[in-house]
Amino acid sequence: MQGEILEGLAFTGDEFTPRNVKIVIENGHISEMTESKTASSQWIVPAFFNAHTHIADTVGMDTPIDRPLAELVAPPNGLKHRLLRETPPDRLVSAMQDTIRFMKVTGTLGFADFREGGKAGVDLLNQAADPSVGMFVFGRDGGEFAAQGFGLSSAKGTAAEEEAVRLAKQAGKLFAVHAGEAGVKDIEAAFALDPDLIIHATHFTKAHIREATDRDIPIVICPRSNWLLGATADARRPPVHEMLDAGCRVFLGTDNVMFVAPDMFAEAAFLQTIYKIDSIDILRMMTDGFSLMGRRGRIEVGGSADLLLLDGGYAGRWTQDPLTSLITRLGSRGITRVISRGNTISL
Ligand SMILES: [Zn+2]
Repeated sequence: MQGEILEGLAFTGDEFTPRNVKIVIENGHISEMTESKTASSQWIVPAFFNAHTHIADTVGMDTPIDRPLAELVAPPNGLKHRLLRETPPDRLVSAMQDTIRFMKVTGTLGFADFREGGKAGVDLLNQAADPSVGMFVFGRDGGEFAAQGFGLSSAKGTAAEEEAVRLAKQAGKLFAVHAGEAGVKDIEAAFALDPDLIIHATHFTKAHIREATDRDIPIVICPRSNWLLGATADARRPPVHEMLDAGCRVFLGTDNVMFVAPDMFAEAAFLQTIYKIDSIDILRMMTDGFSLMGRRGRIEVGGSADLLLLDGGYAGRWTQDPLTSLITRLGSRGITRVISRGNTISL
């Protein structure tokens, strides 16, 4: 779609500053943004990036959480991995397609997935892919060479693991690892592998946060997953405020689709309620993962037109803080239109 003009209250620039604007979209990009006098109840929000998912385990949706974390999700024999092995490939593809569609209609236009099952697993995800949703795949067990990155379940400090990471990096892949989810034991081994991305950091100490910040390693937090799977029952874990205070780059993810709906608005609302994080920081966490794909995730002239349009009528009449109301009042059910690179996606 070319030459479209949108009007409304847009959350613009680096600070997501709410401004009444007219936005011109040309060739998939924002070519112009000017102040608008027209009162519109439409809110315009940058699309989200879900920085950590396992979408194949959609096939185990809402399996009861009735055993310890390791027995549920740890490879190779956790319940999840048994389920994935037992599911025929066409059902896995169909489940992943459904979840990508769910993410899209709830405002997510990019995600980073940990894909199990080696190269075959990565191939199935590519079959499920949707061109309007950006995808950064972390494969494993050989799948990393068919993907953009290597995703390690958890570091154990073995020579085999070190070699796998070395080969992946040599092939130009990014390396991501779960660390500090259930405790502190796997954290040093994770840092020793020089990761490009850390997932969870639930039990990171100040020193760990310092290290991640100094080495400019972004952390993906997945708070609802941590609570549901018993990795925390404490609003200080993961230590989100300390991460932000240290200047660490923090992204938001929803983790296993098996247990958590990959709705970024829902994750944001949880983060706001339980962790009392400022809305502006939450918006950053919801969009900054686009940096994995070399994109910015902001509404700005020259930026890609990846936008959510929402009905802001009710909140717009009463709110004292649009950024907060966006999360607490509108949420994904307020979305009326999703635009990916200038093209409207049917909801
Ligand atoms: Zn995970």
